[in-house]
Amino acid sequence: MEDSFLHKGLRKKLVEELKNKGISDINVLNAINKVPRHLFMDSSFMHFAYKDKAFPIAANQTISQPYTVAFQTQILEIKKGEKVLEIGTGSGYQSAVLIEMGASVFTIERHKVLSSGAQTLLMQLGYRPRFFYGDGFEGLPTYAPFDKIIVTAGAGHLPEKLIGQLKPGGKMIVPIGPENEQTMVLVCKSDEGKTEITEHGSFVFVPMLKGKA
Ligand code: SAH
Repeated sequence: MEDSFLHKGLRKKLVEELKNKGISDINVLNAINKVPRHLFMDSSFMHFAYKDKAFPIAANQTISQPYTVAFQTQILEIKKGEKVLEIGTGSGYQSAVLIEMGASVFTIERHKVLSSGAQTLLMQLGYRPRFFYGDGFEGLPTYAPFDKIIVTAGAGHLPEKLIGQLKPGGKMIVPIGPENEQTMVLVCKSDEGKTEITEHGSFVFVPMLKGKA
């Protein structure tokens, strides 16, 4: 569980790379600079942890590319104290970034092994989101509404129930499309509860699947 000067140096370089690619929210960049991404990956991939690439984790899933994490986080304009729902806990990395930004995080994962693994690691690192093992398409009606919702898997269609769990004035970012490529879709809910949808480029995510695994 070491976070050496080498790791910190590589992380600074990654942050510079993300700046050059257009990430400008200083709170996002600071959070990425703080979270030891190498600890969220299998030890055999440690050397790759600070490259701007997605990497395999357990259960055939991936830890998203740092640029993608930064892009989705930036577009949500996360503020301290906001209640954020994440779909797809995966490695737990995105949750850690949100917590570094002062968000109160609720995260759902459909793979038991990933949910438990992320729970153990995040607790060791002192990050405390609320973990849920279940189907993200259902959201968390008991804890709704949320200020922000981040979907970190590619959905075949807009998850309607999640829109219902968004506060007026809230935002949801969700990649929508077939397995090979998705469009980044931002759903903004007005204070009157009307939704506006905008598109923000192409990305590739693992698929958002129904039910638990
Ligand atoms: N946010 C993660 C990214 C993991 S990849 C990270 O920072 O590492 C996307 C994750 O979404 C996978 O772990 C996958 O199992 C999960 N997933 C896919 N469909 C889901 C669903 N319906 N509900 C909850 N999690 C889902």
